[in-house]
Amino acid sequence: MRYVSTRGGAQTQRFCDILLEGLAADGGLAVPESIPRLAAGELAALRRLDYRGLACALLQRFIDDIAPETLADLVARSYTREAFGSDEIVPLKTLEPGLHLLGLSNGPTLAFKDMAMQLLGNLFEHVLAVRGETLNILGATSGDTGSAAEHALRGKRGVQVFMLSPHGRMSAFQRAQMYSLQDANIHNLAVRGVFDDCQDVVKRVNADAAFKARYRIGAVNSINWARVLAQVVYYFWGYFRASQGESESVDVAVPSGNFGNIYAGFIARSMGLPLRRLILATNENDVLDEFFRTGHYRVRKSAEVIETSSPSMDIAKASNFERYVWDLLEHDGARVRALWESIETDGEFDLSGSPYFRNVAETGFVSGRSAHADRVATIREIHARFGVMVDPHTADGIKVGLEHRDPRVPLVCLETALPAKFAETIREALGREPERPAGFEQLESLPQRYEVIEPDVEAVKRFIAARAA
Ligand SMILES: *Cc1c(COP(=O)(O)O)cnc(C)c1O
Repeated sequence: MRYVSTRGGAQTQRFCDILLEGLAADGGLAVPESIPRLAAGELAALRRLDYRGLACALLQRFIDDIAPETLADLVARSYTREAFGSDEIVPLKTLEPGLHLLGLSNGPTLAFKDMAMQLLGNLFEHVLAVRGETLNILGATSGDTGSAAEHALRGKRGVQVFMLSPHGRMSAFQRAQMYSLQDANIHNLAVRGVFDDCQDVVKRVNADAAFKARYRIGAVNSINWARVLAQVVYYFWGYFRASQGESESVDVAVPSGNFGNIYAGFIARSMGLPLRRLILATNENDVLDEFFRTGHYRVRKSAEVIETSSPSMDIAKASNFERYVWDLLEHDGARVRALWESIETDGEFDLSGSPYFRNVAETGFVSGRSAHADRVATIREIHARFGVMVDPHTADGIKVGLEHRDPRVPLVCLETALPAKFAETIREALGREPERPAGFEQLESLPQRYEVIEPDVEAVKRFIAARAA
């Protein structure tokens, strides 16, 4: 399996090479040269595997530079009962016949990002050890991604993690999830400023090419191909549990921000999994809904991004979207490059008049939007009808999923976080505190470990230099 860049200007690479790199050399994103298609009868065989077995069987088709036994070991260490609360790893809850909730949020930080990050942590450790290299992960977070990365990389050899977060601006729960980690390789920097200040410092450290090279600064952001790949597995898993047999199609509803989660569904579908429709839900930040309805992709300015009650979907642009457009444009890298150049100059591109936009329906996508009042109403409705509490992001997906529901086709809604993480909206919707899973009751009272720092690039560089791997 070889990987190419969406902009067509980089050398082909193998999996382990793209694992550790961010953008491709030409500024594009790594994509597999071709998607491996399942042969007839293979689905029935995959249906019988447990989660770890399924993950190995699928990942091997995309990763041919790690030995299958080694990959199986990394997978087994990632998807454990200890980390995910059950041997199923991803339980499917049936709300009523034909309507299901796929539980992706039972990992250490109670959000679906753990599904990819737990594997990524083990892949990083393995590849660094084989190469005799070390890496310093630098990131900025307003909550979810940073904690999932820290929980995946804690205690891993060869990796130090430097995570910037806005001092005093996260919820007590989010703060505790990150700051209570006592592992020596995890460094929480509480920046006196807002999230944008954190992100700005990270950008400026990365802009210093000499520093970046000397200290081997890396990232674990949502464009990492290994994260997409890990997410392909649970689309198969959910399909098998919601369908009677391989002649049945299933629809999936996915709350979306950076287009990473639902793009993994698109890959699963491209491999031959009978997913009929991929139902994309956005919140008030509806960049993607606008594209799928009109063909017009219009990036928002940061001042236009609305702070919502499903904050992990508050995006100005969808960083994985370029991968899908590459496919829509029939792998024409030059054309992708031209479109992304027009984003640089005009902040947008428009495919509405192009023959490519007509292919969108064939790729299975439909979309919709959910705002605060919809989210609150959906949390109430699901609780009243089924006695199940869902988080605000999951509620966005369910709202749009139900709008597109076809009674003849099972609908699987992806649960992307547990309600415990978003207590304020749950209180507003239900007038009570969200349930907390076992082991999280005392989270906020655990001792915390973090360093308060000014939003000062030089101070952050000195901090990293003194502790780098
Ligand atoms: C990150 C996140 C999303 C959005 O996923 P994308 O892959 O960015 O589309 C949705 N819900 C929750 C809870 C998240 O943390």
